[in-house]
Amino acid sequence: MELGLVFLGSSAAVPTRNRGLPGIVVVYRGSLVLLDAGEGTQARLVLAGLSPLKIAAILITHLHGDHVFGLPGLLQSMAMLGRRSLLLVAGPRGLYGFLREVFRYTAWLPPFPLYVAELAPWEKLRLPNGFKAIAFPVDHGAVPALGYRLVEPPRRPRISLEKAKKLGLRPGPLFSRLQRGEPVVVDGRLIRPEEVVEEQPRTIIVYTGDTRPTGSTVEAARGATVLIHDATFTSNMAREAHEQGHSTARDAAIVASQAGAKILVLYHISARYDDPEPLLREARTYHPRVVVAEDLLSLVLRP
Ligand SMILES: [Zn+2]
Ligand SMILES: [Zn+2]
Repeated sequence: MELGLVFLGSSAAVPTRNRGLPGIVVVYRGSLVLLDAGEGTQARLVLAGLSPLKIAAILITHLHGDHVFGLPGLLQSMAMLGRRSLLLVAGPRGLYGFLREVFRYTAWLPPFPLYVAELAPWEKLRLPNGFKAIAFPVDHGAVPALGYRLVEPPRRPRISLEKAKKLGLRPGPLFSRLQRGEPVVVDGRLIRPEEVVEEQPRTIIVYTGDTRPTGSTVEAARGATVLIHDATFTSNMAREAHEQGHSTARDAAIVASQAGAKILVLYHISARYDDPEPLLREARTYHPRVVVAEDLLSLVLRP
């Protein structure tokens, strides 16, 4: 696929028979960006048939173990597999110290260049795959926690076939020139690109990590193609969810509909839900397009 998501793990805090710990891969033209790296992430990458060497960046939402304990093992495997290219690892305050201590006590350093970025809320970052990332603040209690809004690079503009036909333009070399922004002449008439060229919408992927429902997520998820939101419990456990810094499926759906997100993915599912149907049912009351994340589920955004 040209652009899509692969969910490696979808559980909250503890793995179950069917769900591993958080880890999501953004696939874009053969390059991978990993969002969170819970324990077991590298084993799931193998199951998903995705090479760790294709990972250009890893974005960590927060330093709770279920989101970051897979990172040291993954780095070590990258080294074993012969990685030499630069890897960007970004996350909240504390990420650098976490990695430094792991490297110190395991007496090991990655043999490839590792660039670690600690991001402040609302900090912007250009990812190696060309995506623009914005780290937004979420509300997960005492631990610094960020969500990420990822915006696809500008796409090659498309020629409107309908408009082209009206102007007597046929598909061919003139199309490419117009797409490059050059005017062309057809039957003695000058046609400017803006008469036929249309911008293509960019895909926007937003991932909250662990959070209570927050206004900052609504802001960051405006117009998102996909919002992947914490949905640890159903709303009959709203009090527990909020006390622990999490959201319910209902919270996630309300945030998604306030933000105008097209697709909502319920994520970080508590081990108490063998069957995720109750989460799905309550979210669908508030949002028309809801998916519950499953391990190794692929969400194809562009084939
Ligand atoms: Zn978690
Ligand atoms: Zn957490």
